[in-house]
Amino acid sequence: MEVQIIKGTKQIGGCVTEVVSSKGTKIIIDFGSDLEGDNQIKKENPNIVGLTTGIKQYDAVFITHSHSDHIGLIDHILDDIPVYVEPMSKIVYKLLGVFTYQGIRFKTNDMKLNKSIVINDMVVTPYFVDHSAYNSCMLLIECDGKRMLHTGDFRCNGLRGNEFDNTLKEIGSVDIIVTEGTSLSREDVVNETEEHLMERAKEIFNKYNQVFILQSSTNIDRLKVFYNVATETGKTFIEDIFTSNLTLSLKDESIPNPFNRDNVYTWITSKYGKDKSQRFKQKYVYKFKERSKQKSYKDKKYCLLIKTSMLESIIKLYNKNFIDNACLIYSMWDGYKKEPETKKFLEEINKYGVKDIIDLHTSGHADRKTIKLLNRLHAKKVIPIHTTEPEKLKEVLDNVVLVKEKEVIQV
Ligand SMILES: [Zn+2]
Ligand SMILES: [Zn+2]
Repeated sequence: MEVQIIKGTKQIGGCVTEVVSSKGTKIIIDFGSDLEGDNQIKKENPNIVGLTTGIKQYDAVFITHSHSDHIGLIDHILDDIPVYVEPMSKIVYKLLGVFTYQGIRFKTNDMKLNKSIVINDMVVTPYFVDHSAYNSCMLLIECDGKRMLHTGDFRCNGLRGNEFDNTLKEIGSVDIIVTEGTSLSREDVVNETEEHLMERAKEIFNKYNQVFILQSSTNIDRLKVFYNVATETGKTFIEDIFTSNLTLSLKDESIPNPFNRDNVYTWITSKYGKDKSQRFKQKYVYKFKERSKQKSYKDKKYCLLIKTSMLESIIKLYNKNFIDNACLIYSMWDGYKKEPETKKFLEEINKYGVKDIIDLHTSGHADRKTIKLLNRLHAKKVIPIHTTEPEKLKEVLDNVVLVKEKEVIQV
């Protein structure tokens, strides 16, 4: 077995890993866009011969989860190379594409959790792992009598974090681990659990009549947390139209949507009433009409999921007198606050009845204590990716090897 980090030994996001067997079977794990730079650059074809240009040289591509820094470039992959994506991650990816008008590769192959996929002499098995993207997975790759674990992005502090221990037991010993190290720079930080965050959210919900939430719609754990708190504190839970489409499409009864919970509604903003095509509205808007009545705002006790593009619609709510004692919970990575649209939105929002902006977030990436658990797999080589400080992994795990991009690692 040979492993190569084609991209991402010293950056967060945009990591691409290659695995080759002695018989020449070649696969790629993750093919996402860089997190830095403007949108156009991020989406450009990286021109990798045999993967995105020229004649096919790879047997398959495997995607760990639906975040764009892992899946964002799959549109560029040559048509005759199969791309394996976990079915729920594919739904998330497709829907995001529809709502943002970005290119979508519809032709993907299903990769079901815990079901091995055989590619010539290579076996790839996806295991569920806790992360801020729904149904993320780790990948176990076996060939030539060797075993490699690619962690993807992971954590242990989410609603299903307690499954991690058993998953590691199930995987057993491996020869090599390729692991993310996003949080390595935060030495003493122990991630707050989603359950603990829920307790803090309760206090906030009790203090304000209207709670606006700025979070990633695809962070389903967080959505469940805020839904539970809204229910407990007697508030109506109102999803933006993208979130309602997402929660409905995932077909998981544990995820609140306007049709499986009485206190969940959809917020159809004027943006979706006017600008979009008839076809779009028929498919993604009209079905929520019955669940978008204004009466849901009238008692003024609601929790509303918002996007930074929705300021105009928030102003309309304010003018209709539906906002009197409101706060905004900022529930995303702090770094996004620097983005011009977010910055402007946060500066403007307090003019419209929002008294306080409150940070309430916990990381989607493993803290040091969690990464340390990987020592149980007794890997002879551990390669850090998805980090700006790869050398710090040595402080946490045994047998860490620092590699350069495209350096061949023999296993
Ligand atoms: Zn990532
Ligand atoms: Zn991720």
